[in-house]
Amino acid sequence: MRIDVLTLFPDMFEGVFGASILGKARDKGLVRLSAVNFREYSTNKHGQVDDTPYGGGGGMVLKPEPIFAAVEDLLRRKEAETPQTEAAAEDDTVPTPAPPRIVLLCPQGETFTQRKAEEFAREEHLIFICGHYEGYDERIRTGLVTDEISIGDYVLTGGELPAMVMIDSTVRLLPGVLGNENSAVTDSFSTGLLEYPHYTRPTEFRGMQVPDILLSGHHANIEAWRRRESLRRTLQRRPELLDRLELNKQESKWLDE
Ligand code: SAM
Repeated sequence: MRIDVLTLFPDMFEGVFGASILGKARDKGLVRLSAVNFREYSTNKHGQVDDTPYGGGGGMVLKPEPIFAAVEDLLRRKEAETPQTEAAAEDDTVPTPAPPRIVLLCPQGETFTQRKAEEFAREEHLIFICGHYEGYDERIRTGLVTDEISIGDYVLTGGELPAMVMIDSTVRLLPGVLGNENSAVTDSFSTGLLEYPHYTRPTEFRGMQVPDILLSGHHANIEAWRRRESLRRTLQRRPELLDRLELNKQESKWLDE
């Protein structure tokens, strides 16, 4: 997978791209990450990327030209890196590369969820556009992007932190990225539920005990306990998630207990 971020603050991504799971995924060649400063595509000698809004009012608006130019340049470079031979172009069995998802970070967009991370993880190429200032020229929304995504109903200074959130949650789902593949499978939301409680050594800590079932070594009973705890925790904390699930008789009974 390839992920490019268009931002006015590429330095913000240096630590994040090199650290922990993202850094390992990059080192293993499972993802290619880059942050591009779209100020480099300003058509103005002062490097201006924003301007005052037509119609008046406060705040500055990101101009369309630098952002369109940055995306177009990225796509040109990508094509130049992977030249298609004439034979491959004529061969129906050679898959043509999928067009990138061009994601605008924006508090007015669709709310980011685990389902969206799973969807993004199936893409070959993602481009994130991080806003700043008051907003974007509307033509960026209507003429360039494929998705508008928000990380929640609050307003941040810029799209950099939301882009990092989406990149992190997407990359950890790529095959081979997490050491223990199961850890993404049982994560909260992946199963449609919140995850069950975890315990580690010691068996007793300040009078608090590890449930006996987890020490029993009986795998089927442990699985059943985890499923029940997952259901109960979801009922307590996020009951609306249960509306989307089909529960069997036993599971419905656990919720009534
Ligand atoms: N005036 C805009 C509005 O009311 O919709 C908010 C602009 S905000 C100060 C600047 C930038 O931060 C946005 O363009 C977007 O890229 C990013 N941003 C802020 N909050 C966000 C959120 N909840 N999700 C995703 N991006 C966000």
